[in-house]
Amino acid sequence: MPNKIRIKLKEIRGQDLAVQQLLQALQSGKVPHAYLFLGPDGVGKETAAKALARALNCTNPVGGDACGMCLSCRRAAEGNHPDIHVLAPQGSVIKIDQVRELQRQVGFSRYEGKYQVVLFLEADRMKEEAANALLKLLEEPPENTVLILISAKPAALLQTIQSRCVPVRFVPLSPSLLVELLVARGTTADQAELLSGMAGGSIGQALALAGDARYMEARDQALDYLERLTRADAYQLLSMAAELEQQEDLATVLDWMARWYRDILVWQQMGSERLILNRDCWDRVQGLKGWGGNHALALKEILLTRRRLQENVNKRLVLEAMLLRLKRAGRDS
Ligand SMILES: [Zn+2]
Repeated sequence: MPNKIRIKLKEIRGQDLAVQQLLQALQSGKVPHAYLFLGPDGVGKETAAKALARALNCTNPVGGDACGMCLSCRRAAEGNHPDIHVLAPQGSVIKIDQVRELQRQVGFSRYEGKYQVVLFLEADRMKEEAANALLKLLEEPPENTVLILISAKPAALLQTIQSRCVPVRFVPLSPSLLVELLVARGTTADQAELLSGMAGGSIGQALALAGDARYMEARDQALDYLERLTRADAYQLLSMAAELEQQEDLATVLDWMARWYRDILVWQQMGSERLILNRDCWDRVQGLKGWGGNHALALKEILLTRRRLQENVNKRLVLEAMLLRLKRAGRDS
């Protein structure tokens, strides 16, 4: 049973082509047995699949889309439409038992809707057995059944499964739309600007970052480290490495350090704040005394360190080397 579906296809933001493709199919009455919704995580694939399921079952559709008022639309909004099914991985995979249970359910006639609609969330998370059962369903689709496979990693699906589905492509959301959506959900405008540059076009990712207080804290810490770096002598550098080593979310702090350097490089190139991620506290960076030097080299050093730390290395030693090199890059010009 899906959760409450209140949205209509026309209300989906930033996916005009996908929505148009779906509405055209609905209007023409030629809806394929199976769709593959593909594109990055957190850009609206699942929402669109649910809106499509609702529209398919609407008894009084408007331009192909759900009316929002008929009994079927209301049941979907309440989250208890008997003909809309959602299959999500249990643990890390969609299990064969889940697919079998589904086969049994769609075998029954529809309760009241026009279509049995089945959403497969993270459809690529299927082992061979389950994938073969799904393939069978795709090869002999029950009448008036629409399967919607949703995946951010479609290449992981069997070729035979992919080829039996009509693809619908979802794209990363634009930064300006992300800002709007974040602000509508209560994020401050400054923070929304910042997160929209980090989230890779994914509202899901942006919201996850917005809700993660540690993430923003790590940004401050990263700037603190860089401020201290400009003043530190060799002894202080080594104790900074010891502190960094203890940092629970070291990777996040390093990512932020890299972004600070990236921002300075962008600023040097463009001479404007427009493309700077950390715009909201840019004054602090510009006020920094003694943070000059070869920032491109420094950025490269941080990214290399980040990669090295994923291997089984002496963490402290790698961090010491990084800070010493950053310090030296700071003297180059
Ligand atoms: Zn309706």
